[in-house]
Amino acid sequence: MRSSKFGASNRKLFDKAIRAKLTRYECPKCGKFKVTRKSNALWLCKSCGASFAGGAYSLESEAGQIAKRLIAEYDKGA
Ligand SMILES: [Zn+2]
Repeated sequence: MRSSKFGASNRKLFDKAIRAKLTRYECPKCGKFKVTRKSNALWLCKSCGASFAGGAYSLESEAGQIAKRLIAEYDKGA
């Protein structure tokens, strides 16, 4: 596997991203743990074939969670 070359903190960030990238996530549509990364920020469920836009290295990013919460709050207020 390729690795980041220089700096302990860089290597830690790289390892974290790679691990998040290779993990299987629960499909929001069918509930099976079959969602894998297809491309940058593009996630595909191997079971039902649904594709999702998410974080670059994980199904949901922190910024995405904040956006989701803000949208939910806005919907409730309107
Ligand atoms: Zn699915």
